[in-house]
Amino acid sequence: MKGFKDILPETIEKWHFLEKTAVKIFTHLGYKEIRTPILEKTSVFERGVGDSTDIVEKEMYTFLDKSGESVTLRPEGTAGIVRAFIENKLETSVFNKLYYIGPMFRYERPQKGRFRQFHQIGAECFGIKNPAIDAEIIYINTLLFEKLNIKTNLEINNIGCPNCRPQYSKALISYFEHYKESLCIDCQKRLYKNPLRILDCKNEKCKIIARGAPKLKDYVCKDCKEHYTGVVECLKALNIEFIENELLVRGLDYYTSFVFEFVNNNLTLSAGGRYDNLIQDLGGNNICGVGFALGEERIIDILDIKPQNSIDIYIANLGVTLYALNILQKLSDLQFKVYCEYENKSLKSMLKKADKLEAKVCIIIGENELKSSSCIVRDMKNSTQKTIELNQLENTLKGVLYAT
Ligand code: ATP
Ligand code: MG
Repeated sequence: MKGFKDILPETIEKWHFLEKTAVKIFTHLGYKEIRTPILEKTSVFERGVGDSTDIVEKEMYTFLDKSGESVTLRPEGTAGIVRAFIENKLETSVFNKLYYIGPMFRYERPQKGRFRQFHQIGAECFGIKNPAIDAEIIYINTLLFEKLNIKTNLEINNIGCPNCRPQYSKALISYFEHYKESLCIDCQKRLYKNPLRILDCKNEKCKIIARGAPKLKDYVCKDCKEHYTGVVECLKALNIEFIENELLVRGLDYYTSFVFEFVNNNLTLSAGGRYDNLIQDLGGNNICGVGFALGEERIIDILDIKPQNSIDIYIANLGVTLYALNILQKLSDLQFKVYCEYENKSLKSMLKKADKLEAKVCIIIGENELKSSSCIVRDMKNSTQKTIELNQLENTLKGVLYAT
């Protein structure tokens, strides 16, 4: 299916590495995982993400379930987590730093770095007003990119809040009205509904026009300004480099004041910001939030790690399956990584497979070995082999596997 991709064993180690690294960082910084359903009522996203955003207007997988209720495959993580936060009354919980990992769905035109099912790793922090938490979210990203050995540029901006944005929107409308005919069709539609989104348009012509647009920083209110300055101060204290990009806006309506993106080679790898009204907009109390989401596919695409060999030992079973199972059990109890063969194959083809699996040792067993409670241990590196008693197996294996 277009835009849907199988994740095959060849790349799975990259996924594990990325996710394990992220989980380790989150855990070390006191973040707890939250898992919410992939399917939500459509209204969660219409109200949360915003109904004049690209996501809600054209990218959602929405359908009626058997009872006629409109449901949607989640296009992003935040709205569902906020819904869960409100429903489960998590504001009284000590766990207000949360992370998630999982699939998202958007009906987009498949192209480089863009799929219809993709995966995000993200975090949300609730109820912390201090700009330091925005900086902590940024810090998590820099830490992760460092561990992944991926170079990024951090771009930040202040996009204001419902207090100051309306005046800015008006200024944008009067500016872009002069160029209406030159804007792309999407932006012509956005002009009166969501003029900020024009700043984010990928169309070259719109990009050029947007460069001359009024700047939000001339319109932001005192609170937004203070918050943003606070984050900048924290980033400096953490020695985190950033670029202020006044054209940076996010594709989701819920963001307020501080927003950011980590960019590599013109592709946004991770993005986020503060959303101080989302919880209230979705029916909760007046609680602020900040978070980010990182696209896993875009990371996997550039992640450069050497695949590790997945097994230590290959058991070449020449028709003595029960004996082979016993040895498998023994080796797995001893914490070795072991692959056992059960199909009738020639020794030659089994040795070939052991090689392909990058096994360091091959244990060869047949009728003779079964009778004498022994086995042949073959060192795959230098193709030497010897027959040993089963009770010597652990020591022999350690000798071969851990020899430098
Ligand atoms: P863009 O401007 O690139 O469309 P966005 O504003 O829609 O991004 P977010 O919703 O903030 O992006 O998603 C955060 C991250 O998730 C993106 O930076 C990207 O890495 C990833 N992402 C978003 N959409 C897709 C997709 N269709 N396929 C793969 N990854 C995606
Ligand atoms: Mg998008």
